[in-house]
Amino acid sequence: MPSIKAIVTNAPDGGVSVKTINTDISSYKVLISPIYTGVCGTDRGIVSSSLKFAYNPEGSDYLVLGHESICEVVDSKVPEFKAGDLVVPVVRRPGDCVNCKIGRQDNCSDGKKHEAGITGMHGFMQEIFTEDPEFLVKVEDKTLKEVGVLTEPLKNVLKAFEVFETVSKRAVFHGEDSTVLDKNVVVIGTGCEAFLYTMMARELGFRSMMINRHPLSHKIEKIFDDLGLRFVNYAEDPDEPFSSGIDLLIDTSGDPTTVFNFLRKVNYNGVVILFGTNGRAPDGSFTGADIDYVVERNITIAGSVDAAKKHYLQAIEYLTKWHCSYGEKLENVITAKFPPENTAIFTSKQKDELKSVIEWK
Ligand code: NAP
Repeated sequence: MPSIKAIVTNAPDGGVSVKTINTDISSYKVLISPIYTGVCGTDRGIVSSSLKFAYNPEGSDYLVLGHESICEVVDSKVPEFKAGDLVVPVVRRPGDCVNCKIGRQDNCSDGKKHEAGITGMHGFMQEIFTEDPEFLVKVEDKTLKEVGVLTEPLKNVLKAFEVFETVSKRAVFHGEDSTVLDKNVVVIGTGCEAFLYTMMARELGFRSMMINRHPLSHKIEKIFDDLGLRFVNYAEDPDEPFSSGIDLLIDTSGDPTTVFNFLRKVNYNGVVILFGTNGRAPDGSFTGADIDYVVERNITIAGSVDAAKKHYLQAIEYLTKWHCSYGEKLENVITAKFPPENTAIFTSKQKDELKSVIEWK
């Protein structure tokens, strides 16, 4: 049994270290190793012990972290994959419920699914691991070797737009010209997920902007400007966003006060997608007048978590297209690369961070 390097925590107690673990790779269908693994708020929440739903695999006193990745096939015993292929492993693995049985473990109905690097299954921050081909998505374009690490966070966005499509059918959402060109999307937050939501909103034809309560650093502002994305600091410019109201409000902050403030700007038949989670955010208040506002305007408030394999495939298609259109401007979204030994990146967000990654090769 080879000894390999892995980045581990002890969920839900937290902590982070680089550990040498023994891994059994004697029998496999596909053997893979990570090229880059992304670090996100969920990893930091597990490490700081604020995400109490995280837990170690059964019988293990540690959890290998990592759910965002772009990997390379080392060896394959199935025809669908060959050594050198770029792949992204699916994070959620099905339990026994009806949604899990149809490949929609993102909509698991009893909570018995597992998530790599989060709940009951080792993640991808380890030098080599085995995979079932069913849970691998191939990245054909080898130039996505770096930005392919955004597949996992982007697949969440595609699922959320699927949720939007479903709930917006309750009334006519499109304009009289059959488009969404005059519909306003406001994304609360300016992190990686907010960035991907705004890219996608524009791709779908919406007018869109990201908002935050402070200015952006020059570095992040330039990344957004280069990609033609709009940002508003609502603390400085309180009349924004959009005097014509918000048709689709997407929250990546998890901050209830901010969500409820902007919810009051949502138009008739508008949709609010709750995506960000922040158990440490201060409580907000939702009043009777707020309930009247939501009811009288037929506003739909929907939560959205994770995504299905089909959303990974769509995410790769969009990343391929965007990389072709924007090249280096898209690559700049990966704002820093670190060796596995630099575990300090799990304890606080880096300055000027959009996406920090761990470089394995
Ligand atoms: P992130 O970089 O931490 O993004 C959160 C963003 O919200 C930051 O830009 C933050 O700004 C901003 N923010 C916080 N309070 C705000 C406020 N009051 N007004 C405006 N903006 C505010 O994390 P991420 O990786 O993009 O992920 C976004 C969220 O989605 C996280 O909560 C994460 O846990 C969650 N998530 C959900 C799913 C899902 O399936 N539902 C999947 C992945 C991640 P500052 O940094 O300046 O404070």
